[in-house]
Amino acid sequence: MSEPAAPKTTFKRVMLKISGEALMGDQGYGLHPPTVQRIAREVQSVQEMGVEICMVIGGGNIFRGLSGSAQGMERTTADYMGMLATVMNALAMQSALEDLGVFTRVISAITMNEVAEPYIRRRAVRHLEKKRVCIFAAGTGNPYFTTDTAATLRANEMACEAIFKGTKVDGVYDKDPAKFKDAVRYDHVSYDEVLQKRLGVMDASAIALARDNNLPIIVFSLDEPGGFQGILAGEGTYTKVHG
Ligand code: UDP
Repeated sequence: MSEPAAPKTTFKRVMLKISGEALMGDQGYGLHPPTVQRIAREVQSVQEMGVEICMVIGGGNIFRGLSGSAQGMERTTADYMGMLATVMNALAMQSALEDLGVFTRVISAITMNEVAEPYIRRRAVRHLEKKRVCIFAAGTGNPYFTTDTAATLRANEMACEAIFKGTKVDGVYDKDPAKFKDAVRYDHVSYDEVLQKRLGVMDASAIALARDNNLPIIVFSLDEPGGFQGILAGEGTYTKVHG
């Protein structure tokens, strides 16, 4: 019997942003390989729909610059450590994807030629055209930024149609749904409302960069099996942040 055809989508090129914590499973720290493998299968299923995929993975499961500096480290050094943490996560995702037969490239904003390709925009675009998943590592390469901003920056540079932010919940709520039973999910919300109400979708720099370039952000649950593919096919629940 042949495999059922993948559902259809109108998206051609997207950015998937996940936090480092999404890779740690139920552990309090680090990488949980079965979780990385599960997310890799989600990415593979979207690639089978013919979508070109960019990815940015955070580093918070290993190190965050802000927590380092709160404990007395020099801030920029701590941020570089955070950026290096994202490279480890990117390599773990690369390994899981290639295990499934999905071709990938890890592209680092900090030069480390033995480990990852340097970021050259035109070369990255070429990889996407050849259906390789591009995992952008080391954030923006600059301290004082986050990987949400890196995802927005690269999504703009790669001309992605939207950023898909995979989280633990199925969208943006007016208050924390883990704490408040009466929290209400937005179907749509504007960039300005996210900023004014501090809705915690992404940090303010990332939201402003998305707003100024009219790049929609779709917040969905990555815990739902088949969730990423479903959202791309227009199914399931999510919040769309747009102008
Ligand atoms: N970071 C940075 N510049 C960037 C991106 C990330 O300095 O452009 C550092 C920063 O210290 C941050 C850490 O890398 O705390 C991990 O990234 P992030 O906090 O965005 O990870 P996530 O919360 O998505 O897991």
